[in-house]
Amino acid sequence: MTEATTELVQEEASKIPVGISSCLLGEKVRFDGQHQRDAFVEKTLGQFFEFRAFCPEVAIGLGIPRRPIRLVAIDAAVRCVSTVDDTLDYTQELRDTANEQIAWQQSLCGYILKKSSPSCGMERVKVYDGDRPRRDGVGIYAATLMANFPNLPVEEEGRLGDPVLRENFIQRVYVLSRWRALEREGLTVRGLVTFHARHKLILMSHCLNAYRALGPLVAGANRANLEDTAQRYIGELMAALKQRATRGRHANVLQHIQGYLKQYLDADDKAEMSEAIAQYLRAQVPLIVPITLLNHYFRKHPNDYIRDSWYMRPYPATMSLQNDI
Ligand code: SF4
Repeated sequence: MTEATTELVQEEASKIPVGISSCLLGEKVRFDGQHQRDAFVEKTLGQFFEFRAFCPEVAIGLGIPRRPIRLVAIDAAVRCVSTVDDTLDYTQELRDTANEQIAWQQSLCGYILKKSSPSCGMERVKVYDGDRPRRDGVGIYAATLMANFPNLPVEEEGRLGDPVLRENFIQRVYVLSRWRALEREGLTVRGLVTFHARHKLILMSHCLNAYRALGPLVAGANRANLEDTAQRYIGELMAALKQRATRGRHANVLQHIQGYLKQYLDADDKAEMSEAIAQYLRAQVPLIVPITLLNHYFRKHPNDYIRDSWYMRPYPATMSLQNDI
């Protein structure tokens, strides 16, 4: 078994710590004493993620059941208040409880939040301004969490129903998980260079500008500037990966990878490979089709750079995410 295969087996065997709104796991913590269990999150993602559940409203002592709360625009600020009494303001308590969770949240590689919640909603939460709610709010707990951990992949359970958003979130969770492993091992210049080399093709599929910028950044790393360079690197990498990988950019990456085989493939093989990429670009086949064909050729003609690249196996194959895009 090669080192890369051993790593893959280890990665697939260990669950990744991911925070989650408690109600999504079936805990009866909602204001009405009910839950909002999400079967895909619990059953499917639960096979790969070790969930750390937290309910901010219960944490601040609102009780179960409780009067609901909502976001309200008051004096040009957004406050989180009781639906029956605007003077019962929980904004600061929700911020404080988010800040009090930093110790355990530091080890997380992702967070799944309950959509539309005035505490947990990541975006488009209703903000009541006069009679008409507008949909541009962020839950108070969620906003504080995201401010405290700007590199943390965060997503809502509703958006995970979209195959592209789902793949993007899971991709980022696995990248951050590998970064955390690198930090645990002890960051070195060599470790940073290797990490970047192995994620270059993933980055290329998301954002060419970041791909062009991060190479020189990593090349300039030395012992004296390592800490600063690493923090800048992971910040820019995680921000770039938020951009969705498009079919066009994937096709470019696939063609780039095909280039490593050019001396080994005959004309028919090259045509077959190019056609698989073209079919993917035309949305006639999923990404797994050209990737499988490439893997087939690289088994016959191994290449260290491609073998070690996480692009070819960004997350466990059993997640079947490349079958959807
Ligand atoms: S505060 Fe968050 S975790 Fe608690 S019930 Fe509301 S959405 Fe769920």
